[in-house]
Amino acid sequence: MIIDSLTHILPEEISKNLNQFKRLDSIFNDFFDKNTKIVQAEQLIKQMQKNGINKSVTAGFGWTNHELAIMVNDYILLSKKQFPEEIIPFCSLDINSKKSEEELLRCISKGVKGIGELHINNLENILDNKIFNNILKIALHYNLPIIIHGSEPLGHKYRGKGRSYPKFLFKLVEKNQDNIFIFSHFGGGLVFYEQMPEIKKIFTNVYYDSAAQPFLYDKSIYRTSILSSSINKILFASDFPLIDLNKCLKQTDYLTDIEKKHIFSYNPISVFNL
Ligand SMILES: [Zn+2]
Repeated sequence: MIIDSLTHILPEEISKNLNQFKRLDSIFNDFFDKNTKIVQAEQLIKQMQKNGINKSVTAGFGWTNHELAIMVNDYILLSKKQFPEEIIPFCSLDINSKKSEEELLRCISKGVKGIGELHINNLENILDNKIFNNILKIALHYNLPIIIHGSEPLGHKYRGKGRSYPKFLFKLVEKNQDNIFIFSHFGGGLVFYEQMPEIKKIFTNVYYDSAAQPFLYDKSIYRTSILSSSINKILFASDFPLIDLNKCLKQTDYLTDIEKKHIFSYNPISVFNL
């Protein structure tokens, strides 16, 4: 079984009205221009079949517009109905909208398996954000993982890189040690700090995904992360359609069978409660 722990799908209406949504939502504006690839569920499924992927997490982004969040969540839930075996639905939320708690409960009632991908850029304010803290409480109650984008403090810039740096992600875990977090893109490098015993100790519920790895790191990061953190906490993810599925899969060729079984199958089955 191969599970891709992070992909993104969006309704066709969005691809057709790009500029309208760019004006509506600042995260959307950060991520998308006319060259950004957008796919619908059918195209994702076709690529999954071509590359031997059995299931994929389908997620939104950390929207700043509540209506856009609802629209994308509805589309992801509809796609789950259409492809019940293949799609693992996640919901995205505007963490500054008072209506987000209600939206999260609605999505939970319809079977979402987690929250995300969230993009959090106002790091200083977020730890005291009442709405976000309530979202964390609901996630904890329902045992739902939260995928949060991780930004590397160094290196090249890219669309949507943001400012979710390891230092902030650490503070988030420190304050919410019982929540299950999946930090995307190896947590912007946070995974390496798990070699410090005091960090490893409080990071028992933290996972990392490899989304967009070929754009960011050498393939050796898979082995390095397993050694830094744990074979039980690394998830294979592509970030499709941002990047070609085959290109991502090939980067894992050097791993042992047991390492592959964990990143492709055992770890996502456990963290997503499949
Ligand atoms: Zn991301």
